[in-house]
Amino acid sequence: MQLDCDVAVVGAGPAGSRTARDLARAGLRVRLLEEHRRVGVPSHCSGLISPRTLREAEIGEEAVIHRITGAFVHTQEGGEVALGGSATRAVAIDRVAWDETLCEQAQAAGANLVRARMTHAERENHHVRLTAQTDGRDWTLTARMVVGADGTHSRVARTLGLPRPKEYAYNLGIEGRISPDARATWRDDYVHVFVGRDLAPGWFGWIIPTGEGTVRAGIGTTGPVKPIVAYRRMAAAFPELFAGLEPVRMYGGTIPLAFAPRSYGDHALLVGDAAGQVKPFSGGGIYTSLVAARHAAITVRQAFERDAFGAKSLAAYERGWKREIGRELRKSWHLRHFGLAMSGAQIERVVRALRSPGLQELADEHADIDYPSRVLLRLARSLPALATLGAVTVRRPGAALNLVRAHLPV
Ligand SMILES: Cc1cc2nc3c(=O)[nH]c(=O)nc-3n(C[C@H](O)[C@H](O)[C@H](O)COP(=O)(O)OP(=O)(O)OC[C@H]3O[C@@H](n4cnc5c(N)ncnc54)[C@H](O)[C@@H]3O)c2cc1C
Repeated sequence: MQLDCDVAVVGAGPAGSRTARDLARAGLRVRLLEEHRRVGVPSHCSGLISPRTLREAEIGEEAVIHRITGAFVHTQEGGEVALGGSATRAVAIDRVAWDETLCEQAQAAGANLVRARMTHAERENHHVRLTAQTDGRDWTLTARMVVGADGTHSRVARTLGLPRPKEYAYNLGIEGRISPDARATWRDDYVHVFVGRDLAPGWFGWIIPTGEGTVRAGIGTTGPVKPIVAYRRMAAAFPELFAGLEPVRMYGGTIPLAFAPRSYGDHALLVGDAAGQVKPFSGGGIYTSLVAARHAAITVRQAFERDAFGAKSLAAYERGWKREIGRELRKSWHLRHFGLAMSGAQIERVVRALRSPGLQELADEHADIDYPSRVLLRLARSLPALATLGAVTVRRPGAALNLVRAHLPV
């Protein structure tokens, strides 16, 4: 049977565009389906990435709109610590331009961008049939394989019956301006992070300076408090930072906090948010989706070489991306839950301990937003009462929590 294409990639976000580019470069016939008229719009992202992500994306410094060297961590009880500050640890990007560039790279390699919303996917004899909609008109597309890069609520995953991630953070994001008066007191190369069980239950709040008096702020919760309610509370609790912040655009967004139990099935792969490939400590998923896309393209190419599209042969994809980032995602997930189980008073004490010069130096030297466990485990090992907890946290989170309860206050 003559199929419409070799691979249908659903979603032209970072995961989809990068997978499509690599597959097109390998000579496969690729259709890249995107439901929005303009790729990247509307953005649901704060666009903070590591310098490493620029290299992974093969996008140069032109994407950078602002540089971040450190972070102020604020607790709901009023504690505060400044970390980092000596070198660029993260950069803010124009997320719309970023997605457009990645998509242009895919098109330049030969991928065919099609404006359409995929509404259904089903497996037929040795191929998949997608139903899509463009301007209200239904049409179908056949492909040997489908790559679901269609974000958190992946329709590819749902209609093909692939298991979904189990944990999510619900966010409100804000793009805003800082009033000229308030700007005088801002340190423009530091992000602000707000933590607290009642402030942002299960997650955190943030302000990211993006240069020239603009910021991206937001807050997320894992429930039951709505993000807008949490945002109002955060703004009221930190008037010195939020009084001068004038929102320009608001948006919502759901972040998967644990990867899906399986990122492949017969004739199908899931990449990026669709597979829950997101850093559980920060919710960042641009770096991880690009790494996973690289592995997805390798596996799909091999599937075509061997003419083998069953789940068994596509399992190599999951082994590949987990070998590179799975360990870190698992460690970060445990560390997040470790932090969530701490009381407000315990968090205060840790924040106070982090003000010591030795720990400040350690944090500054090892901070890495893609691999947060590296600095967090070092810090945990260096806090007297948290000694030995690092390794225990990762291997046996339950045991670590009992230990920390027994040993704090530090
Ligand atoms: C509030 C918030 C802030 C964030 N901040 C950061 C940050 O600072 N740094 C960071 O690294 N990450 C951040 N993230 C996470 C980051 O945005 C995602 O991890 C990343 O976008 C994942 O890329 P993706 O390609 O998998 O999915 P997406 O970027 O979501 O792309 C999916 C694409 O698929 C399209 N699509 C969906 N369904 C269909 C369909 N049925 N048919 C056709 N097309 C479809 C969508 O239109 C979209 O273009 C944030 C997320 C949120 C919610």
